[in-house]
Amino acid sequence: MKIRTKLILSMTVLLVFILLFPLAVTHIQFYISRDYAYRENKAAFEALREEFGRYYTEHGDTWERVENASFESIRDFAEVLLYADGFPLYRQGRLSVDELRNDGYPLVIRSGQQKVGRLYVMNGEQYKTYEFKKEWYGILPNIGIASLLFTCVAALLSIFLLSWRLTRPIRIIIRGIEGVKKGDNAAVFPVRRKDEFGSISRALRDMNESLADAERARKQLLSDVAHELKTPLMIIQGELELAQETGAQLTPDKQSSILDEVLRLSRLVHEVLDLSKLEAGMAELRRGPENLAALLEDLTEKTRFLAEEKQIRFTLQTTEDEIRVSADKSRILQALYNLLTNAIYYTNPGGLIRVSLDRVELPDKHQQYARVRIEDSGVGISEEDLPHIFDRFYRADHARARPTGGTGLGLAIAKQNIAAHQGWIDVRSEEGQGSEFMVYLPVISS
Ligand code: ADP
Repeated sequence: MKIRTKLILSMTVLLVFILLFPLAVTHIQFYISRDYAYRENKAAFEALREEFGRYYTEHGDTWERVENASFESIRDFAEVLLYADGFPLYRQGRLSVDELRNDGYPLVIRSGQQKVGRLYVMNGEQYKTYEFKKEWYGILPNIGIASLLFTCVAALLSIFLLSWRLTRPIRIIIRGIEGVKKGDNAAVFPVRRKDEFGSISRALRDMNESLADAERARKQLLSDVAHELKTPLMIIQGELELAQETGAQLTPDKQSSILDEVLRLSRLVHEVLDLSKLEAGMAELRRGPENLAALLEDLTEKTRFLAEEKQIRFTLQTTEDEIRVSADKSRILQALYNLLTNAIYYTNPGGLIRVSLDRVELPDKHQQYARVRIEDSGVGISEEDLPHIFDRFYRADHARARPTGGTGLGLAIAKQNIAAHQGWIDVRSEEGQGSEFMVYLPVISS
């Protein structure tokens, strides 16, 4: 059932209830007071019943001439009706037979075991409630059928309008959802209200925008990956086609350049897969307690020769021999390796790279963090590029991008790896002066 139908139905029921409620209350009130009157006057009521029973026996088990009889105790009661053999036989008071039969207190009259009649009695107290009830019953016809009809039509019309207005935002929202289903990313939910519908509409609008963003990011990733794959593939294809056309053997130089491109392709595919797993939170981390000082020592030993090849001075400073973090060793090493090789790559010969490790307390955090700083005196990063360097495939200067090796994914992978360990990376840089990358990881007590 549609919400609108439900609303109309429930409001109509409510309307009927409101109209009938006073009637029902008066009715109930009347019967309560009738029973109360019986309890209060029980002795007199019962005496009257006996008197009628006696009359019946005295007249040879008939109600003969009862219509002319005069019962002594009746004067105490306002209204009395004797009903027997399906007919009214005796009545005293102002009320009609029907009125008494409907609303008088019913008492069975017996002669021995046999039921011989029924007496309907109403006393003075009851009569007051009865009048009140009658008044209420009288009001309805007085209002007049026409005005009653008018009220009902007006009420139904406003119920209909109200339910239409109430369900309007739902219809707009449904139209919006249908639009999104058909692929309309710009579908809007234009419900400008301050109530719950407005909130739903705003939430849906936000959701739609983030879906559209995700869709844009997916398309961008696809086109970036395709673009990155294109260049090495073209080089490989070109070399092989040339060799095939000329029938010449591939020189060792050509072979190694093809191999370089194949390695580049394979690294790219590997890194894209790795990054998607990290971003989807599906990368498996084999964490254990690791001494970051030792890891850093190991890593700098293995990369030192790269710096030395470029005549770059390379130093490592740790404030403690042991700072323990809970980490997947290979992932932390991968992140630090990416930062370190970047520093070496973007620093000119004769430059300086300083790696340091310390333990810090941060004002807004409740625990200690290990901080790895990788400072270089390299080319630095411009202000415009700085906010984007952790984006996938972002390269600050395309002309300067590494001819081999750099895929533009190194920092994105490092950031995700550190984030998977509840840490983060900060960066400070000035163009032409150098850069400083800071990795923060939560320390565990040893
Ligand atoms: P790439 O494979 O191009 O190095 P990254 O994701 O590692 O990709 O880095 C993204 C970009 O950030 C780089 O292209 C470079 O412009 C900039 N960058 C990263 N590290 C440094 C650094 N130490 N000095 C200067 N620029 C850097």
